[in-house]
Amino acid sequence: MEPSNKYRVVWYAAVMLLMLGFVLTAQRRRVVTVDSGSRPLMGTLARIVVVAKDSARAAEAIELAFDEIVSLERLMSDFDPNSQLSLVNRRAFTEPVPVDDSLFEVLSASIEYSRLSDGAFDITVGPVVGLWRAERNTGVPPTLQALEEARRAVGWQSLLLDPGKKTVRFAKPGMHLDLGGIAKGYAVDRALELLGQSGAQGAMVDLGGNIRTFGVPAHGARHWNIGLQDPRRNEHTLAVLNLDNLAVATSGDYRRFAVVNGQRLSHIIDPNTAQSAQSVSSVTIIAPSAMQTDALSTAVTVLGDQKGLLLVQSLPQVETIIIKNGAMIKSANAARFIAKTAN
Ligand code: AMP
Ligand code: MG
Repeated sequence: MEPSNKYRVVWYAAVMLLMLGFVLTAQRRRVVTVDSGSRPLMGTLARIVVVAKDSARAAEAIELAFDEIVSLERLMSDFDPNSQLSLVNRRAFTEPVPVDDSLFEVLSASIEYSRLSDGAFDITVGPVVGLWRAERNTGVPPTLQALEEARRAVGWQSLLLDPGKKTVRFAKPGMHLDLGGIAKGYAVDRALELLGQSGAQGAMVDLGGNIRTFGVPAHGARHWNIGLQDPRRNEHTLAVLNLDNLAVATSGDYRRFAVVNGQRLSHIIDPNTAQSAQSVSSVTIIAPSAMQTDALSTAVTVLGDQKGLLLVQSLPQVETIIIKNGAMIKSANAARFIAKTAN
């Protein structure tokens, strides 16, 4: 090829690439972002952001996703006496109780996380959680005797699932399941799945800090940006994370805690001691699914930074950022998600 022809080819290729770039950018601009704002759901605030071709489609998708969360809340709420979970809690010691596929899935996953975390994550911790919950209203901590009694009813090995019949049974009396550490994450996954099927090009679901994103980021941004809250300073962000097609959750004592005798008590219980887990200020987990991040953030809060890091590093595609005594402890690849840190 003659040199002038070669230049011409390169020139054409450059122009074509530039045009392709314009077309892609224009297409990206043709989508709209719709933000649901906050709605009270599952004992916390829920927010859904959808990127779609038009706002009517986005709004419709958002309503479908909220409906899904509402129906999961009806199944899994500990506060609603008519939920399927409440029925299980009342009856599963007497007889095997059949449950819906969704609830069965969450119960099976919970047992898996108990196994993985050596019992740090345990949904049978309900009786102990109940005692500490009462303390938050009365200001009087439960007695050691009451805690010891409640602890005897705790133990994930006594939660028996029959995968064939999809039934649940308790092997000892007084057991009480609490899905507060996993159900929100599961609901986020389900809502996001629905949004994907309903033609959204991108979406983010946030259920009380259990967040997952997919596809095209909101408002034409390059990434989905998620703020990581400073556990000790309300409304302060420690860092901004770039999280595309990933989930993130933070457990810690900054959202819900009580101060007893000057000590901050988190709502997360160490099933071994029946006391509130206090060794770290907050645990953020980044992973592909929101159920993973929800359960693991609770588990690592109980395990503490050393054992917690070991657990996280043993799992593929899972990263953590732990805040302890004001310092940030990160797993091997967590830094790559941090776009900006506060100074
Ligand atoms: P999260 O905010 O996701 O860390 O979940 C905390 C909630 O999970 C608490 O409010 C309890 O309902 C429940 N919970 C507390 N301790 C545990 C535990 N060790 N394992 C599983 N769930 C727990
Ligand atoms: Mg959790």
